[in-house]
Amino acid sequence: MQDNNGTNNQFSLEMVEFNPEWQFENHKTGEFYKNGVIPQKLFITYLGGNIQPASTDKVFASLENMFKSGALTNSNYIRIADYNKVISASFHTRVLYANTLNRLNEKYHCRPIVTYICGASLLTKTMLRLFASYVKQEFIFVATAQEAFDLINANNDDPWEEQDNQITISQKGLDQLAALCGNLLFNETFTFDENKDGVSPADPLYDLYSIIALLNHDLKELQKNEKEQKEEIEQALEHSRVLNTKLSEEKKIVEEKEQIQQILIKKLNQAKIEAEIANRAKSEFLANISHEIITPLHAVIGMTELLCYTPLNSEQTNYTDTIQTSTQQLYQLLNNILDFSKNESGQIDNNTIRFDIKTLFHDISSRLNDSALKKNLRLTLTIPPAIPQYLFGYPDYLTQALVNLVQNAIKFSNKGEIIVSIEPVSETPENISLRFLISDTGIGIPEEKKELVFQKFTQVDSSATRKEGGTGLGLAITKQLVELMGGTLELSSRENEGSIFSFVLLFIKPNENNKKNDASSILPYTGSLYQNRLHTPMKSRENTLPSNTRILLVEDNAINQRVASAMLNKLGFTIDIADNGIEAIDALKQIAYSLVIMDLQMPLMGGLEATKKIRKIETGTRDPDIPIIAMTANATQQDKQNCLNAGMNDFISKPVTIPTFQALLNKWVPQKK
Ligand code: ADP
Repeated sequence: MQDNNGTNNQFSLEMVEFNPEWQFENHKTGEFYKNGVIPQKLFITYLGGNIQPASTDKVFASLENMFKSGALTNSNYIRIADYNKVISASFHTRVLYANTLNRLNEKYHCRPIVTYICGASLLTKTMLRLFASYVKQEFIFVATAQEAFDLINANNDDPWEEQDNQITISQKGLDQLAALCGNLLFNETFTFDENKDGVSPADPLYDLYSIIALLNHDLKELQKNEKEQKEEIEQALEHSRVLNTKLSEEKKIVEEKEQIQQILIKKLNQAKIEAEIANRAKSEFLANISHEIITPLHAVIGMTELLCYTPLNSEQTNYTDTIQTSTQQLYQLLNNILDFSKNESGQIDNNTIRFDIKTLFHDISSRLNDSALKKNLRLTLTIPPAIPQYLFGYPDYLTQALVNLVQNAIKFSNKGEIIVSIEPVSETPENISLRFLISDTGIGIPEEKKELVFQKFTQVDSSATRKEGGTGLGLAITKQLVELMGGTLELSSRENEGSIFSFVLLFIKPNENNKKNDASSILPYTGSLYQNRLHTPMKSRENTLPSNTRILLVEDNAINQRVASAMLNKLGFTIDIADNGIEAIDALKQIAYSLVIMDLQMPLMGGLEATKKIRKIETGTRDPDIPIIAMTANATQQDKQNCLNAGMNDFISKPVTIPTFQALLNKWVPQKK
């Protein structure tokens, strides 16, 4: 390459001088203009960042400094502009920059003869190409500044050689250009072909044709891209429309399902409520019907017993024995059904009360010892000394659960012993958890039947129970009772070796500040089950019968009146009957009775209210302190407590028997013997 003076020259970046006064950089925006020169030969600029209009003054000042230095004055120089790092630049800024450069070139008598552009856009390239010949410049597009240097050094042409820029255009050339433009307008697919269209590189309009061809080509490409993108967008839109439709359909299905689910839930709730109502109705019906049957059954039991006290031959005794056994079984069944339906219908006492665990065990033992002894079985109930005597819990339920389990143990054992024991499980200052175990040495329960026996009316072997009697309700009731108390009834058993039923219950320990019921109000268990005392021999009349003793029986049921008065007559008492509390008070005002036997539920005035009245002096009965004995069936511990609170002295359970009456009268009318 030759310079202005015709000398060969090689250029490199190292030769470029970057005077600090010629530079501009804004670190905040990232824009920069780096200007450098090889004096009189080459002017290089690196531009970059977001070119801001606000920076132009400083940029132009640095440019001016460079031109002012004289490094380019009076020269035709090579220009390199590197736009690679430009992110954005407004049109206005670009025009201002170009104008300033032109002004400075004119002012300092210099001009670029060839310009290497690095990183120019397609449009910039085209624009520059189009106007290159008119501004007497040559534009060469390269990727990097280094490529520009390489080209400069490799080029043997002399860039400083003055070119003849005069352009002559013929009429034919202009016609051709017009035809081409027409084609471009009307023929979308038109392409410029220099051979076919007969335009040679020597043609003055050759560059123009080339650029139009290039623009045309770019435009087509843009149009093609646009069309493809449009199609893609259309496809995506169509796809999303399909998806949207599917989504709405699925949403509809989900909504429908939710609706169905809601309806089902509603129906289910309704069905549950109906089932609960039906179940309650069933239980109430069972309770009512059982109650209706029990009352005449009391009469059958009572009258049979009275019959037993009359002279009977052996055949007749055989008949009465059978009647007694059958009524006993029927009575137990009815009681079981009553208990079960009472629990199921929710008629339960759910207040814990203070009770004496030792007394409770003692009562169970005295109730069931006889039946164990009859089968040569030993019945042992033990309480470890560490266990508190008084606890808060549900003594009625606990007693009934234990009685049921011990009765079963006796029923299904032919040898050995039955042990009822308690093990402490855990204890805190406030409460204690106890495990109750009822073990026997009986026939046991096969593994596959263990679950079944807890179901209603289920028996392992009905022939075994036929002998002993049984309804298949006992364990179901016991399980229910244990669960009501917060425990779980468990069973471990080996066939022919024995069974252990167990459950764990949590009790609150009474403390000094927690005396809801004091020990004196603890009641002995009198039991609601028919006790097997029908054959207890009666004491001789002469020894015990009172003379001239009159008892008032307050009872509304005619059958019960007949049974009780027949028994009391048999025991030598004179009986007066009152149908309700009001009649009782009237009678007590007139006659001095030794004792009152009082039913609880009666029309007009019940037993509790009548008792309270009798105890009041102002009522005017002859003896306000007269012993009053409640006669009840299926009384709960709470009922009994209510009787005591009302002023009654004792209880007698239905069905009444001659021995129980006798014991009661011995206790309450001894002085009149
Ligand atoms: P049941 O009135 O027949 O005794 P339960 O519900 O009390 O009814 O008992 C159901 C069945 O479980 C009994 O018939 C018997 O087969 C079995 N079973 C209950 N307790 C025992 C036991 N301690 N030993 C052996 N089998 C028992």
